[in-house]
Amino acid sequence: MKPLQELTRSAIWELTPYSCARDEFKGRAARVFLDANENPYNNPLNRYPDPLQEELKKKLAHVKGVAASKIFLGNGSDEAIDLVFRVFCEPREDNVVAIAPTYGMYSVCAAINDVEYRGVPLRQDFTLDADALLAAADEHTKVIWLCSPNNPTGNALERQAVEQVLQQFEGIVVVDEAYSDFNDQRPFRLDLEKYPNLIVLNTFSKLWASAAIRLGIAYASEDIIGLLNKVKYPYNVNVLTQQQAMKMLDDLQHIDLWRATLLSERTHLLPSVAELPICKAVYPTDANFFLARMTDADRIYHYLVDKGIVVRNRSRVQLCDNCLRITVGTPEENNALLGALRQYKP
Ligand SMILES: *Cc1c(COP(=O)(O)O)cnc(C)c1O
Repeated sequence: MKPLQELTRSAIWELTPYSCARDEFKGRAARVFLDANENPYNNPLNRYPDPLQEELKKKLAHVKGVAASKIFLGNGSDEAIDLVFRVFCEPREDNVVAIAPTYGMYSVCAAINDVEYRGVPLRQDFTLDADALLAAADEHTKVIWLCSPNNPTGNALERQAVEQVLQQFEGIVVVDEAYSDFNDQRPFRLDLEKYPNLIVLNTFSKLWASAAIRLGIAYASEDIIGLLNKVKYPYNVNVLTQQQAMKMLDDLQHIDLWRATLLSERTHLLPSVAELPICKAVYPTDANFFLARMTDADRIYHYLVDKGIVVRNRSRVQLCDNCLRITVGTPEENNALLGALRQYKP
């Protein structure tokens, strides 16, 4: 890996971050808070939240097996994705490389930040061609974006190919593991010591069933986490979100139950869709969704919408001709989908 300073935009490296009242007063318990121009009434919502969410990170560290000092929390993973561009990529000068197809926010954030985005196609079977990815990088490539299990394809990238990228690329490698809770492979967040250039993303939006509270996680070295913290808004994760996340972390049984239920539903749903005459292929999945290649995705999509069932039409995405991305729902929802698809008249 290149020295972190060399990878970081100089304006960010030299930035003196905003110092808020809650940063300056730390540690000792106080009785009277007259430092932040808050209204003393309407407790507890009158007070600014902990800018570094320390209590929440402590709980999360325990559950996820990563030190609290290596955790960044943001307003969804989307905040972390945007911050990676703002910290490392000089607009109009630097570029990033990503797999294609993949999650759309990487290229949207690249465009917003005026950073060149180089999408490198996966192989036809959606596996990662590490050599092709590395060949697309040059001296201005600051970040490589990987997503595993990948959205919209659903498959986990082969560990060996991801490790090749981590070892051979000199810049930052992001591995978005939004769906890693749905498979049994070793998550990359446990390998931060081995790869100083690694940033792993997680989210409360999928298995953790909390998309509404907007809470995303980035795991990385303390130095990288320090840069993300320097640039984020001081109070980026609000009190209600922090409280609700702590509640979720205290009720892990629910998470396990949801995982088991969704995986069992997936086991039933996948072959049932695959055997439909209007389905040409269903791709292997390590996530709570799968990609199905249909005879006529556009028409089937609109047919389902008319029946009040929404899936994701991915047929205009690279390598995903005629593909629908289908999320695994409750047994009732999955049956409604299957019932509708069985009645479809080509
Ligand atoms: C859904 C999803 C996320 C979640 O984003 P949030 O902003 O945390 O809701 C992140 N990455 C991928 C690949 C996703 O599919």
